Amino acid sequence: MNYYNLKDKQEKVNFKTATIQGQGKEKGLFFPEYIPTFTEEFIQNLAQFSHEEIAFRCMKDFVGNEIPSDILKEIVSETINFTIPLQKINEKISILELFHGPTLAFKDIGARFMSRCLSYFLKNENKEITVLVATSGDTGGAVAHGFYNIPRVNVVILYPKGRVSKVQEKQLTALGSNISTLEVEGTFDDCQNLVKKAFADEEINTQLFLTSANSINVARWLPQQIYYLLALKQWQKTENQAPVICVPSGNFGNICAGLMAHFRGLPVDHFIAACNENDIIPHYLKTQKLEQKSTVATLSNAMDVGNPSNFIRILELFGHDFNELKEKISGYSIKDETTLQTIKDVYKKYGYTLDPHSAVAFISLEQYLKENPHKKGFILGTAHPVKFPDVVETAIQINIELPKALENLMKKEKKSIEIRPDFEELKRFLLNKMKDYEQNLS
Ligand SMILES: *Cc1c(COP(=O)(O)O)cnc(C)c1O
Repeated sequence: MNYYNLKDKQEKVNFKTATIQGQGKEKGLFFPEYIPTFTEEFIQNLAQFSHEEIAFRCMKDFVGNEIPSDILKEIVSETINFTIPLQKINEKISILELFHGPTLAFKDIGARFMSRCLSYFLKNENKEITVLVATSGDTGGAVAHGFYNIPRVNVVILYPKGRVSKVQEKQLTALGSNISTLEVEGTFDDCQNLVKKAFADEEINTQLFLTSANSINVARWLPQQIYYLLALKQWQKTENQAPVICVPSGNFGNICAGLMAHFRGLPVDHFIAACNENDIIPHYLKTQKLEQKSTVATLSNAMDVGNPSNFIRILELFGHDFNELKEKISGYSIKDETTLQTIKDVYKKYGYTLDPHSAVAFISLEQYLKENPHKKGFILGTAHPVKFPDVVETAIQINIELPKALENLMKKEKKSIEIRPDFEELKRFLLNKMKDYEQNLS
């Protein structure tokens, strides 16, 4: 499989190069040259396949022969070696719990797949690589845990100071070793802009080999299709109509992976992009106007994204046909007070505790189903509620207990370096880091 650059379709690379490089010229995102379809027999008989076999079949076409099948099988089974249950909340709405991995967020899945692919590719080359990543909360933790102590990989994470939860912050800052964390006095968009500038900077790129681990990297974006298949496998046991799938969305990598699986043949009635007050895409779906807006800080902070990178891939999937896009995807924008009220209502009515991101999805799907009463669906549960104890406790006035693993984490020391949202500061840090590395070698 080759991947072309969405900004310059002449630039084509294989899976390995797309994974190592992250993005193409002019910061363009890579996109698969063709869409490999599932056989109908496979889709209708998902229940007969193991999770591992489903994951392997999902990824094989995208990886081709660049990773031998036996190793790819190992990689996918490590990627999903925790439970991913589809739980009923009420008669019409279920939740796919994607938060049973090491950092209790769905991003573990993409990060685990990508780190293992990268590690395989680097093994045969004498290359040192720096993964540079901006996080609004969950990406950084998943990436840090995915890459922790992986040889030849350094990780530098940028996060917006004061805008992530305590648990998230510990997941970002407590590891040390090959993980460095920069605390930026600004927003997620500031962090993302700094990262983009670093990728474009000649001096940095002659000295360091930089790659990204945001969902712009195909090796993080594409494996997210796996759990849509695993969800359908469970859905088909009790339901015979195709589901409405509602995805809490920020950078739109997750929903874009679901759409990819759908274009390959996975039956999905409708997709909902559930957003918080950062509503550029819901607004676009209503008006066909893409208006740049600055980011608003909300309770569902991992979705505080002003300018979603992956939306361009969604447009590409639909051949830039607005009407087709509108047929398949609806957008909702939910205010914080409604998010809080939803956590409270769902806990009271159904005894289920939602995290703020999943709550945004729940209320969006509920609103959609009110207008489409014959349909049913599920939301993607993207984070465990314990990651956001303050918000959840405000909503439902109960203490949620930390799992043991988190308790230990919370006792660890925070290690981070504060910088202003100033590119020169980031540059100095990265170039000095290179010097440290060379000194260690000599
Ligand atoms: C990252 C994240 C999202 C948004 O996912 P995208 O792929 O960026 O749209 C939603 N919820 C949680 C908990 C997240 O960490």
